[in-house]
Amino acid sequence: MRRAIALTRQCPDLPFGCVIVHRDRGEIVAEGWNKSSVNPLWHGEIDALNRLAESSSRDAGSRLILYTTAEPCPMCQTAILWSGIETVVFGTSIRFLQEQGWRQIDILAEEVIRRSPGWACTLIGGVLEDECNALFTRRNAAACASRGSRSGYTRR
Ligand SMILES: [Zn+2]
Repeated sequence: MRRAIALTRQCPDLPFGCVIVHRDRGEIVAEGWNKSSVNPLWHGEIDALNRLAESSSRDAGSRLILYTTAEPCPMCQTAILWSGIETVVFGTSIRFLQEQGWRQIDILAEEVIRRSPGWACTLIGGVLEDECNALFTRRNAAACASRGSRSGYTRR
């Protein structure tokens, strides 16, 4: 998670960083960060998942753990399931993002998993939560808005 937080230096206005770790080898096999200024679908998790697909660990599925600074949105959580990743660790919750004024689709990652029979995925939230929440405080969102970036309120 510390690596995911560090990656947000690449995208301070949209501090969504993501790291995928192979649990047996204990090494990072893919990482990414929000690039929605290039493509609105290019959330941090999507960036990391695309890099995973290009790697030799693409079929490691259940052996992979995805770390992300914020709870995956429905698009990303669905992509995580299709990628076969069965463990997701996040810091900031969607509820916190909503409280801070970040525009969010109101479907939690847990609901995406619950409504996906045949898939297994364990969610672990609140890891390094204070550090992740500090990335997403209202102050940061306001700073983005004051710079005229509407994307400051767009999730990943
Ligand atoms: Zn997303």
